[in-house]
Amino acid sequence: MVERGWRSITKQSEAKPSESQHWMDRAKCKDWDFKKHGDPFFPASPTEAAAADAKAVCQGCPIAADCYLYSLDKKNTREHGVFGGTVPQERLRTVRREERRRRRSEATKEDAKS
Ligand code: SF4
Repeated sequence: MVERGWRSITKQSEAKPSESQHWMDRAKCKDWDFKKHGDPFFPASPTEAAAADAKAVCQGCPIAADCYLYSLDKKNTREHGVFGGTVPQERLRTVRREERRRRRSEATKEDAKS
């Protein structure tokens, strides 16, 4: 199971420690007390309601945009947990929407050629 929080984000990164320090060091979730409050970033149920505490932490996080883009990059982070204030369903919707947009764009280019 993937641990969560600043350390887990760093762990999941393939970047070397020195390279990972650019944006992950500023993660707001690194201050979350996982021992005391549990792990809201990987709720048992992947619903938005179950992830409310994690989303509250993400609000105002200075690296939320980087975290969100990071989560889209790999299947593991795309399909599990709260990243950048989003749950997997939200990220999958985004990925599917972008895929449809890309396909429409390619089809338009093909039509223009013919
Ligand atoms: S956006 Fe949320 S999950 Fe991502 S680093 Fe910030 S607090 Fe952590």
